[in-house]
Amino acid sequence: MFDEKDLILEARHVTRRFPSAGGRELVACNDVNLKMYKGKTLGLVGESGCGKSTFMRFLVWLDRPSEGEIWYRGKDITKIKGKELWQMRQHVQMVFQDPSTSFNPKMKIRDIVCEPLLNFGRIKPSEKNAKARELLELVELPGDFADRYPHNMSGGQRQRVAIARALALEPEIIVMDEATSALDVSVQETIIELITKLQREKQITIGFICHNLGLIQSFGHQIAVMYLGNIVEVMPGEGMADICCHPYSKALLDAVFDTKMDFSKKIEPIKGEPPSPLDVPAGCPFADRCPHCMEVCRETRPILRELEPGHEVACHLFEGRGTA
Ligand code: SF4
Repeated sequence: MFDEKDLILEARHVTRRFPSAGGRELVACNDVNLKMYKGKTLGLVGESGCGKSTFMRFLVWLDRPSEGEIWYRGKDITKIKGKELWQMRQHVQMVFQDPSTSFNPKMKIRDIVCEPLLNFGRIKPSEKNAKARELLELVELPGDFADRYPHNMSGGQRQRVAIARALALEPEIIVMDEATSALDVSVQETIIELITKLQREKQITIGFICHNLGLIQSFGHQIAVMYLGNIVEVMPGEGMADICCHPYSKALLDAVFDTKMDFSKKIEPIKGEPPSPLDVPAGCPFADRCPHCMEVCRETRPILRELEPGHEVACHLFEGRGTA
């Protein structure tokens, strides 16, 4: 499916536990194994609180897993510290959901986009003007926006500035945390077009966190579906709607609103609420909401097994097919 020589980051058995009241534990990520490939987008999808942001935060060193390893550039990056960590930060950058809260409102756009370059000594202060214009034009904004403050721009323009800032250090990987969900639908589309164009030109690897499976299937090369801290399905983005088979992934797809206003398609909300992450069932975490739940689902947690190259699913319905 993907060429293993293009593998640039690999998470192995990553688990994150948070202590909770009464000596209990909240497991935000449970034994997550994922791979990211050069120039490709990995979409991580699931409902709020499923652990997708927790996982992506490990890639930008905003948190560290309790167990497991993340290999990048020949190193387990969960263990690096000090100068080595500082150097490594240049290669992985992040775009947050709401740029208005990730910018200092007192800084001009010029200073915002050039701050990473100055921090790493890549430019001199005298080169700021020219570099800011270049970065703004890269994200299809007029160069003279460099003189503006964030509040003088629309939400879509601010998100372009956030992308320009993330691109400034020419990173190999960009993590985007719900980077379009705070934007109008029409603006979302132009931002996705920009991201995919820049990815093609610069061969950037993108980790895109999203709760909308319909959106990510339009540009994700690889899609991982997460439920209550567990990866339940990994599949290629192309043709995803035809091959996705985990009952939760299918429920997410059925819940996507059809923008073509096809009223023959009924939107099916997912029934019930997810269990408390402090009280995850012993068997399949989706058992309480799954229309296909069987006895074995309540007792034994299904493990991810490969159905075909690039397609893995954790569900007892597919036991006996593929390899664990
Ligand atoms: Fe449903 Fe069972 Fe599959 Fe879980 S393992 S998704 S409960 S069929």
